[in-house]
Amino acid sequence: MSAPEFPAEELENAVSVLQSLIRFDTTNPPGNEREAIEFAATQCEAAGLTTTIVGKSEARPNLVAKWSAGGHRQFSRPLILSCHLDVVPAEAPAWTHPPFSAHNDGTYIWGRGAIDMKGFAAMGLAAITRLRKENLPINRDLIFVAVCDEEAGTHHGSQWLVENHHELLGTNPEYVINEVGGFTVHQKGRRFYPVQVAEKGVAWIRLTVSGTSGHSSLPSEDNAVVHLSKAITAIGSTPLPWHPGKEVKRFIAGFAEPEGPLARALCPLLSHPVIGPKLLPLAVANPSRRRSIEALLRNTANPTSLITHHPINVIPAVASVDIDGRLAPGQSGDDLIRELETITDRIPGVTASYEILEESPSVSFDTDTDLFRNIEEVMADADPEGHLVPSMIPGFTDSRNYAKLGANCYGFYPLQLPEEIDFASLFHGVDERIPIEGLHWGIKTLTRVLRRFLTD
Ligand SMILES: [Zn+2]
Repeated sequence: MSAPEFPAEELENAVSVLQSLIRFDTTNPPGNEREAIEFAATQCEAAGLTTTIVGKSEARPNLVAKWSAGGHRQFSRPLILSCHLDVVPAEAPAWTHPPFSAHNDGTYIWGRGAIDMKGFAAMGLAAITRLRKENLPINRDLIFVAVCDEEAGTHHGSQWLVENHHELLGTNPEYVINEVGGFTVHQKGRRFYPVQVAEKGVAWIRLTVSGTSGHSSLPSEDNAVVHLSKAITAIGSTPLPWHPGKEVKRFIAGFAEPEGPLARALCPLLSHPVIGPKLLPLAVANPSRRRSIEALLRNTANPTSLITHHPINVIPAVASVDIDGRLAPGQSGDDLIRELETITDRIPGVTASYEILEESPSVSFDTDTDLFRNIEEVMADADPEGHLVPSMIPGFTDSRNYAKLGANCYGFYPLQLPEEIDFASLFHGVDERIPIEGLHWGIKTLTRVLRRFLTD
């Protein structure tokens, strides 16, 4: 498959677009994404796209930019490229270079958002700009979306956009290309490229325990805060049961496939409800990788936020903690609560009640599609020795909202990473940075996918 050369000055321009995006401090909360969104809109307009900026609030808008196929093809279901322009907080003193300086050391661009996910915004803008210059007729609308507020729950961003302006997204888009996938994972000398096709669900739950209120100068045997601490300790130290879905089985099998017959034979045992939990520590030596695989195999429940409203000299009648629960495929918030109840029911003297604050099911997308095959073919050419693996992530992205419009959403943000860079540690980590060469490779790869798919 031969592809036209990508002009060097356009690759260089993508790097400076990324640097400009990083320099807008869009730490969420509070976000303040407007300037970054307006900058992305200017880039889209320069490429000839029609732009709309809409939002729930003035400071936190979203950009929807459209390249219309025109004629009868405008009625085909669109392809969306989606990125979020907010970033998670950065503790500046811990960084080698200030997190919003976008320092270029000749190999990497450093900064919060370089990977997650202003790099993809720059990549998408470069790909669209290139294709516009080639003046190709496209077979469906291509919509570039830059949203706010992904990192703190999507309420101002993709969720609001899907609920209030689905018409801007083509009402029933067929595909969305988004994070988290397409980057290199090095394992035992092999290169893998997970392409995300599934995400765990979310159940944010409040656990409340009760006791007897009273003056805290007196001894108490029924102190809600003490009961709550026992409940938190028990939940925090009890692993929940295995719920392996087809998505995680396929993901694990994809990494085992090139390893040979023994690894392939061990794979199904990892999802066994009794053998799996014992086998996993032996099968996966790397602790951070083991944690990510384990997260996919079961529900998780992390107590994160304690709620107390009382002065220091009053024993409260109730005490609560909010729990960030994540749901395996097929599991609901009620299922997770039942699992937590079996833990807290065993604690003497503790009566726990649970309330779901927010729930969103896991999502899973079809891989038997033209776009997915297209991605497979282009990737096989872009790195002939690489292994593409349909993957699942324990977190969530904007894809969970686009899924409500019936779109197949793929985490495909192609990025060739050198072996010394571990994607997981950069994502939300200190010293987040993106390799310039890997970004250039990604721009060329994404452009090829879009060129082939949109002009078929
Ligand atoms: Zn992200």
